Amino acid sequence: MTTSTPECLHCGACCFSPSERYVPVTGDDHLRLGDEAESLTQFLGNRCFMRMADNHCAALTPTTDGRFVCRIYALRPEVCRALTRGGASCLAELSSKAEQAQRARPGHFFVVV
Ligand code: SF4
Ligand code: SF4
Repeated sequence: MTTSTPECLHCGACCFSPSERYVPVTGDDHLRLGDEAESLTQFLGNRCFMRMADNHCAALTPTTDGRFVCRIYALRPEVCRALTRGGASCLAELSSKAEQAQRARPGHFFVVV
């Protein structure tokens, strides 16, 4: 992990995408989501995905104090669990989307931890 890797709560980059098919939801993921599944997932064809809103996963909640909170963190899909902070995929997400995520934060200020 690089020293410039932000805390996830101050980043959120990997939860952003313009694609409706960005976060696939497996059968096990859907079961784990329980009552949250109906409002937070959608079927496109015969495949299930997390709903997207404002170019980010609908479960990502920007807070007034400038954090990004996954409101289903304990229940999140496997693809989210597999993305390790500071790993290659994280760094790629930071490289391509960090600025977009920061612009979406209330207050628009940039924090590097
Ligand atoms: S891109 Fe990396 S640092 Fe940012 S929220 Fe995702 S895992 Fe955390
Ligand atoms: S489920 Fe949570 S961790 Fe996964 S993309 Fe959505 S907000 Fe991010």
